[in-house]
Amino acid sequence: MTAEIINGKELSMELKQSMKEEVALLHKQNIKPHLSVVLVGNNPASRSYVNGKKRASEEIGMSSEIIELPESISQNELLDVISQLNKDKRVHGILVQLPLPKHIDVQEIIEAINPKKDVDGFHPINIGRMMTGQDTFLSCTPFGIIQMLHSRNIPIAGQHAVIIGRSNIVGKPVGQLLLNENATVTYCHSKTKDMKSITKLADILIVAVGRANMIDKDYIKDGAVVIDVGINRLDDGSLTGDVDFDSASEKASYITPVPKGVGPMTITMLLQNTIKAAKGMVK
Ligand code: NDP
Repeated sequence: MTAEIINGKELSMELKQSMKEEVALLHKQNIKPHLSVVLVGNNPASRSYVNGKKRASEEIGMSSEIIELPESISQNELLDVISQLNKDKRVHGILVQLPLPKHIDVQEIIEAINPKKDVDGFHPINIGRMMTGQDTFLSCTPFGIIQMLHSRNIPIAGQHAVIIGRSNIVGKPVGQLLLNENATVTYCHSKTKDMKSITKLADILIVAVGRANMIDKDYIKDGAVVIDVGINRLDDGSLTGDVDFDSASEKASYITPVPKGVGPMTITMLLQNTIKAAKGMVK
């Protein structure tokens, strides 16, 4: 079997086209979706991510700003910035780019964001709503993965989904979203014993570890759907996923590449969430 590729870049472009139309309609009603991105310090990867988010917002006609703050900012000063953004009626979505400097209490910052403006879907209120199957801002990477599965009408209900990784931003929420759609979900992590025996049972295998090319065909059942979330930079500067693409493609029915896979979908779902915030859809 040679896997079919689910190209996240192409799917993102399609979705962005319809979002562009939606934003134009909102402008006619005098609603101007606006995303404020807070960047603390000079981490080059973070800077490149926030620039990508601003560029994508502008592509669909949405306004956005990057609020650049020094590495030395105090917890209280950062809380003040969030409080101003919470009050600002012009701002629909607030995103604080992670990671934050070590002296900052990240959880307190996330919880300071008004849940109605939490377009990253990291606020415990929104996570709780997601867990209980209510409408809310879904965190962007898991939301993008679900959209990729839907785009190919891949069955989820009754399927065995195995997630490798249990982070709060990827592994745990993607498993929950699959459970909400009636998959049978198993999580693997660094303490899992004999992982291959588990991953080989997966109809849908989601890999979110952060180890280049860790998963090859020996972990995969014939015909499984393989979603590679990992982004790993190699010594030559190129990007690769957590899945050995060529090997896994021999067994998978569908596979996502890196780059042009889950990454572009993450940004696109952020735009979707900001439009949702602008429409006042999350109470
Ligand atoms: P974390 O480092 O927070 O989590 C990694 C998870 O992998 C942990 O749960 C860890 O287990 C597990 N793990 C580590 N080693 C092993 C192992 N040998 N076997 C099984 N499980 C293992 O990473 P994130 O979830 O934040 O990100 C994962 C990857 O996805 C990274 O490459 C990141 O860059 C990428 N990413 C991509 C995004 C995109 O838009 N495409 C968005 C976000 C992340 P334990 O909990 O036991 O430590």
